[in-house]
Amino acid sequence: MHIGESLKLHQAFSYALVFLKADAVYCEKPYIVHMRPIIRERFHFVVQYRHHMIVSRLNRRSYLQRGRMWAMKYSILGRTGYKVSCLGFGAMRLPMKGEQVDRDLAIPMIHRAFEAGVNYIDSAVMYCRNDSERTVGEALKGWRDKIVVSTKNNYLGEDEKAWRLNLDNSLQRLQVDSIDIYNIHGLNKKDLDGAVRPRIIKWLTRAKDEGLIKHICTSFHDDNLALREIIDSDFFDCITIQYNLLDRQLEDAIAHARTKNIGVVVMGPVGGGKLAASTEALAQLLPEVGRIPELALRFVWSNPDVNIALSGMSTMQQVEENIALAAERKILSGEESRIVHEQLGRLKKAADLYCTGCNYCLPCPQDVKIPVVFSLYNQARVYGLWDHSRKRYADWRKTMSQWNQGVQPDACTECGQCEEKCPQKIPIRKQLKEAHAALSSCDTAS
Ligand code: SF4
Ligand code: SF4
Repeated sequence: MHIGESLKLHQAFSYALVFLKADAVYCEKPYIVHMRPIIRERFHFVVQYRHHMIVSRLNRRSYLQRGRMWAMKYSILGRTGYKVSCLGFGAMRLPMKGEQVDRDLAIPMIHRAFEAGVNYIDSAVMYCRNDSERTVGEALKGWRDKIVVSTKNNYLGEDEKAWRLNLDNSLQRLQVDSIDIYNIHGLNKKDLDGAVRPRIIKWLTRAKDEGLIKHICTSFHDDNLALREIIDSDFFDCITIQYNLLDRQLEDAIAHARTKNIGVVVMGPVGGGKLAASTEALAQLLPEVGRIPELALRFVWSNPDVNIALSGMSTMQQVEENIALAAERKILSGEESRIVHEQLGRLKKAADLYCTGCNYCLPCPQDVKIPVVFSLYNQARVYGLWDHSRKRYADWRKTMSQWNQGVQPDACTECGQCEEKCPQKIPIRKQLKEAHAALSSCDTAS
């Protein structure tokens, strides 16, 4: 019997909540199948371990001392003042049934996370083919007052009515009177100056004054300097950003956010699934932590300037694994952190020998996105992430996204302009051909 499938277990957790007076509890293997309070402060555990049923009677203190039961970790989300769990539920990869979220699978997953102490959920208008907010709204029934709700508005045009319609629709789909964390979706420096300063901040402030949103926040896709500028604008109470083992470019701005008491939510702590796979290079980072997703989450939680690691969970198994890790409160020790940073620095240096991602080679007259191609190629050849890189490369051909607009190397006319501008003196034309061949190939063992 699996921990998440047991009705008795849910009852057991309720008992534990009452008796421990903790926000949440979680027990690692061996799984608890049944837990019954004997008297206050004492529990009767029946546990299953490798087909053996074991009965043990432990009081609260001894169990805690043995390190087998933990409470979820919380911190204050900057200026918002919300006390939030270190794990957030990202509602962007909920299980789908056709064009809609599969409620029968998704809602129990969300409730399981809530029961384990997760109290932050993040959605957006466009997630899950526009069905994420509706699903979150349904899952919030009975939980609304305990959960911090975050969503995003992606409209950056000039029509206030269109912007407001997005907000009204979100309120209706989430079935809430007010949204706790209301984000601009994917802000960058260009939109800060071109859209937010001249108009969107006024619309946000008006919505806040009307009580429709509680905190003005933003998610972000740009570089370190742009993020510092966004932080210094003083518009935002909380930022949601990309940060993980392989993408640490915002580390400096994250620390800056903390000095301004701005909450920091990390999306993609496992690189949007990239770090779900174990490769030889990644396994060498910290061999004691066998599983790379675990190392990735522990890495993010080890940064004291981060409040929440937002995980886009798609299965109950992922929920169980993540809440177990969150409840263990495991962060990297000082020595582990030093080793991981040293190893990452070594890998980064190897990657930079190929391309630093400086963008000096752009623009290309044919609109070839040279740094994006090399970034995917480097992730494959340096970190061993061939499957991930090839999938992204194939998806890029099918759909154009904000991240990878432009075209792939087969459009290159070999004019050579890019090579004149590259400070690394990379033979770009030759390497683009190699990258295109390797990333278009089905052979994952390159
Ligand atoms: S050589 Fe190819 S990639 Fe480079 S600038 Fe010319 S067309 Fe673009
Ligand atoms: S200029 Fe050179 S190093 Fe910089 S992104 Fe282009 S190819 Fe990479």
